[in-house]
Amino acid sequence: MSDTQNEKECPFDHPGVRATEYAGNDDFAAVYNIAPILPGHSLIVPRRHVERLGLLSEDEMCRFFAFARRITGFLLAHFTAEGFDWAIQDGVSAGQTVGHVHLHVIPRWPGDLPSPGDWYSRLRLPITTSPPDAVDSGARPRLSEADLRKIVASLGAAATEAGIQPVRAAPDEGGG
Ligand SMILES: [Zn+2]
Repeated sequence: MSDTQNEKECPFDHPGVRATEYAGNDDFAAVYNIAPILPGHSLIVPRRHVERLGLLSEDEMCRFFAFARRITGFLLAHFTAEGFDWAIQDGVSAGQTVGHVHLHVIPRWPGDLPSPGDWYSRLRLPITTSPPDAVDSGARPRLSEADLRKIVASLGAAATEAGIQPVRAAPDEGGG
């Protein structure tokens, strides 16, 4: 198939995207969305390059959703949210634009958007790098690098504190 990216140009395998990771294990990562629709808007991605959900093994699928549930629970507690939306766009016909499986996790609060279903049309808006032009202009403003770094650092610390950080072989950094 030539309608989705190959591994070489996949943004989810790019170190810049990996820099927005705040929790993960050997197989999956939770990354912060560069243009969040609402606070906490994250993406759950498999570390290996997989284009479609159906290409995950049954075991990977189970662990993918178990990890996603954990991260969602963490986000709801961290942002004191009431609910959440999950979304996977699988296939071009479904709106998939990045050829690497990713689950959107969007925390929700009563009255956060004019209508509860408005998140999806916003998800499909183009991302803009010029926030001043983006206010209600039909685009999603992208966070500045500094803001993104700050959020990712704070979420990473909170995730560690909540005990959802990976059991990953890390060089000795002392206990805690
Ligand atoms: Zn990829």
